[in-house]
Amino acid sequence: MSAHADLLARHKAVLPGWLALYYDEPIEIVRGEGRRVTDAEGNQYLDFFAGILTNAVGYDIAEISDAVRAQLSNGVVHTSTLYLIRQQVELAEKIAELSGIPDAKVFFTNSGTEANETAMMLATQFRRSNQVLALRNSYHGRGFGTIAVTGNRGWSASSLSPVNVSYVHGGNRNRGPFKDFTDADYIRACVADLREVLATATAGDVACMIAEPIQGVGGFTTPPDGLFKAFKEVLDETGILLIADEVQTGWGRTGEHFWGIQAHGVVPDMMTFAKGLGNGFAIGGVVARGDVMDSLTANSISTFGGNPISTAAANATLDYVIEHDLQANALKLGTKLMNGLRHVGDENPVVGDVRGKGLMIGVELVEPGGDEPSARAAVKVLEETRKRGLLIGKGGLNGNVLRLAPPMTLTEPEADEALEILAESIAVTNEELSR
Ligand code: PMP
Repeated sequence: MSAHADLLARHKAVLPGWLALYYDEPIEIVRGEGRRVTDAEGNQYLDFFAGILTNAVGYDIAEISDAVRAQLSNGVVHTSTLYLIRQQVELAEKIAELSGIPDAKVFFTNSGTEANETAMMLATQFRRSNQVLALRNSYHGRGFGTIAVTGNRGWSASSLSPVNVSYVHGGNRNRGPFKDFTDADYIRACVADLREVLATATAGDVACMIAEPIQGVGGFTTPPDGLFKAFKEVLDETGILLIADEVQTGWGRTGEHFWGIQAHGVVPDMMTFAKGLGNGFAIGGVVARGDVMDSLTANSISTFGGNPISTAAANATLDYVIEHDLQANALKLGTKLMNGLRHVGDENPVVGDVRGKGLMIGVELVEPGGDEPSARAAVKVLEETRKRGLLIGKGGLNGNVLRLAPPMTLTEPEADEALEILAESIAVTNEELSR
């Protein structure tokens, strides 16, 4: 048995069966540099999934490694969040300022799940209600609260969570009953649905709405700009808090704005974040209105949340994103990729939709000649791109959406290289499915 096959057998023996691995022959990544990773067999890949968007800036970035090494050289990996941690305070100051939320305060966690659990804990405490609104097709994590607001049957089917959740429309723009509407009519229909849900399915005293500005796991579904402003106007009538889950959309990835929610011209009451902030180091958190954050009267602490290593990495990552204006790069190269992919789509009926913002691009695949979601096409494109040296992601309720989200340091030649591989891989898939 090869070393690779042996590792896979051991993985299967000791890790849960539902912990799915990508590819017929799963990959073991052993090195990274820039936007490229190398597997245990020496194959190199351009990484267009960036560890599910955790790698905001790229691999082996000196500024980030140096910041972590400097902290390690002090001999302190972690003591306790019961003590002052200088870089935690500095990071909180930066995020509070960037958030645009008035009197913002920040609490750090280790993951996006914990960030959303914390946000919902704050909202339910502040509003004295366990009623929560979420969008259909959403993903917010796999804790007992977050799984309840995850409106995606593939991820939340086994939840017996006690959170009282009602789902509203607005999550999956080009599927469902409003898919053929104009953007303006779509927003009107979603607002009418929200009002209907509030009047019929809830007792009125709802704590919060939690929503992704662009749904990540749901397939990079992108609502029309302004949807969340229209929602917020309804929520504000009775003081319902809006939580923007920026776990995938934060840090300039969407190009036009630093946070995904800003495309809607609205400031939420809370934002949650994780993934890209640590460029691979585990960190998440909540930034909230001061009165909401301070409404908690009991003690709360995260043992590791905001620790010296993760906050050192996060400060260095955030500084890098801002100093190199990676948001502008995301807009420029995202636009280029999107245009290129639309062109590929024109020639290949297997492409049903190309959507997203900045370097968060979804390519929805359908059975050629129709509108039926094609999971088999997505599996095939993933294998074909891998063969040609490109790693990409997939998602969507039906597993039929390609997810493209490279590190934001992507260069123009790398964008061209990826486009060429994608064009070939999609054409091969289109041909096979059309036979
Ligand atoms: N929110 C969103 C939008 C996510 O995409 C994810 C992870 N895919 C989470 C929350 C949960 O984050 P984590 O896996 O770090 O707990």
